[in-house]
Order: sequence, then C-alpha cells, then structure tokens
Amino acid sequence: MTTAAMTIDVEDYYHVHAFKNVIRRADWPDMKSRVEANTNRLLDLFEKTGTKATFFTLGCVAKDHPGIVQRIVNDGHELASHGWDHWAVFDQDRETFLSDISKAKQTLEDIGGTAVKGYRAASFSIDDRSPWAYDMLAEAGYMYSSSSHPIAHDAYGNPDADRSPGQTASGVIEIPVTTAIIGKRRFPVGGGGFFRLFPLRWFTQAHRKALAEGLTPNFYLHPWEIDPKQPRIKDAPLKSKFRHYVGLSKCESKLTRLLKSATWTRMDEAYYGWLGGTERSDERDSDDLTGRDRGLRCVG
Ligand SMILES: [Zn+2]
Repeated sequence: MTTAAMTIDVEDYYHVHAFKNVIRRADWPDMKSRVEANTNRLLDLFEKTGTKATFFTLGCVAKDHPGIVQRIVNDGHELASHGWDHWAVFDQDRETFLSDISKAKQTLEDIGGTAVKGYRAASFSIDDRSPWAYDMLAEAGYMYSSSSHPIAHDAYGNPDADRSPGQTASGVIEIPVTTAIIGKRRFPVGGGGFFRLFPLRWFTQAHRKALAEGLTPNFYLHPWEIDPKQPRIKDAPLKSKFRHYVGLSKCESKLTRLLKSATWTRMDEAYYGWLGGTERSDERDSDDLTGRDRGLRCVG
C-alpha cells in the first residue's frame, strides 16, 4: 500500500489566526481548553488503526498539557514543533522568531525526552516576507520544515513555491503540504478546512495522482477539527466562521475512512529519503523523559 505522511498541528480552537481579531492573546488563559481531550481522541484513533503521525505541537500547549506530549512519544509518533504560541513568522523579526522556535524546541524535548527535528510555521507563514526563516531554523537545530502550502490563498501560501521537497540554502529541508494540478491551476489536497469542505474521494484520487508524480502525500489536520462541540466564537467574521466550523461533525469519520487509503506514517519515515539522518522507529529510545516543567502558561 501507498505510504503517506499524516501530520497533526497541536493547538486549541482559540489559537487560530482566523479568530485573532476577536480573541485577544491576553484572553487565552481564560478560555476553556479542549486540546488535550481532542488530541487524545486522535491518538486513540491512530492506536486503533495502527497509524503513526507527526505531531507539530505548540510549545505553550506542551507546557500546559505535558501528558499529551508524553503520550505522543510513548505511542511511537514523531514529536515536532509548531513554534511557541502561534505567531505568524512574517509578523516576527528574525531574533524574535529564533527565540520562539528555540524555546518551543527545548520545551518539547525536555517534556518528550526525544529530539525534535521538524517544524511547521503557524498558518504556513514562511513566505517571501520572511526569507531569513530557514537560516533561523538551522541555527535553532531543526532539520526540516513543513511550512509551505504552495497555493493561492488570501491568508497564506505562495502559488509559485515548489510543490516538491527540497533543500534550502541553509540546509533545512522544506517539505510542502500536498497540492494537485488540474489544468493549469493548483488545488489544495493537503487537509485542514479543505478536507472538511470537499468529498473524501477528491483527496484519495488527488493523493494517487501525487504519487504518480513521485510526490509522497503530506496531509495535515488539527485536533479542534474533530470537535463539533467546541464553543462557537460568535463575533468572528462570517468567512472565518465558515472556514472554521464547516464539516466539523463529519471530520472524524472522514479521517477514519481516509486512514484506510494508504499507510499513513510519521514525516521522518514517509520522507526517509529526504530525512535519512533522523531516527527510525526501530532506533528510537523514548525512555529518557526529563524536565517536566509545568510552570509556564499559554500567553502571548
Ligand atoms: Zn497552527
């Protein structure tokens, strides 16, 4: 069966950029967190289906919920970084970004007791506005990034960016989210809101097409996308509400069916040809859990 990469961006429903103008960062500690329960549901599903995945986890979520980080590692998944608290890369200067990704990496490694080699930017926000980002990732010790979504989109993306993995000038490997070409246009087939909006067949067929092109599918989802009971943010713009809430109730069953379409696994195994220096599952040792500091909170 086909091998493909399953990735989860571990964040809460109120961290998303779609709500950034209606939920202030200062309000985050007062929001009712649902990320731990939702991530555990995904971990349960993956356990039941024999799926492995890469969990790009926010540093601030790891601090507040160290148990899910430890379960991610103990269940044999890859622990990776989604930065500290979901600032877009292009909204930071290089020093702030270096501090953010270094703090996230150290925190995840301390709690998970395993090396963190992968990074995904909040809202795929490495683009022409942050050309220094890969240099900073290399300096912080990251080996790869999956921060490019090479499509046209009003909030993120670069329709001219490579659709295939490649090594950046800094040495960091960039592995874009999967896209499909139909006619002369690129279409998103890599997950998220698009997955909730379009039929499952659209994705399974597009993934087969990607494979025929020599591209390993790279798929992403968030824990809040399988949570139809999450609180509704009433004051958000209509477009943001549509994107965030469409298809939530069917997402988990759709994901369960998607899992049957391929052998879904961790980034470092699906892309072993690119990430050959990372540990394989048969070489991992997750017994060394250290530094479980619960002191910091998810605040801006
Ligand atoms: Zn995110």
